[in-house]
Amino acid sequence: MAPLIFFTEADLERLAGPADFERGRLLVDAVEDLYEDEYSLCATVSDGRPYLAMVHHQHPLGGECDCPDGAPPGLCEHSVAVGLSYLLETRY
Ligand SMILES: [Zn+2]
Repeated sequence: MAPLIFFTEADLERLAGPADFERGRLLVDAVEDLYEDEYSLCATVSDGRPYLAMVHHQHPLGGECDCPDGAPPGLCEHSVAVGLSYLLETRY
């Protein structure tokens, strides 16, 4: 099935800001149990402890995480990692 998700790395970077984007890039390998549904990507990100991070990929793009920086609608580094992990998995 073709991916139904239409965000890019640049979208993640714009929403997260350069610092969180860079930290998120370093956390891509810590993303586990990624799943997607119609509205969201969700995964566990191991970063000291497991964080439950989401990317809401319907317009507007947004994120949510249970870390201190994870209040919606911004993207923390964990949500960035989830988004990047998804993009890497689905790149074709
Ligand atoms: Zn987070």
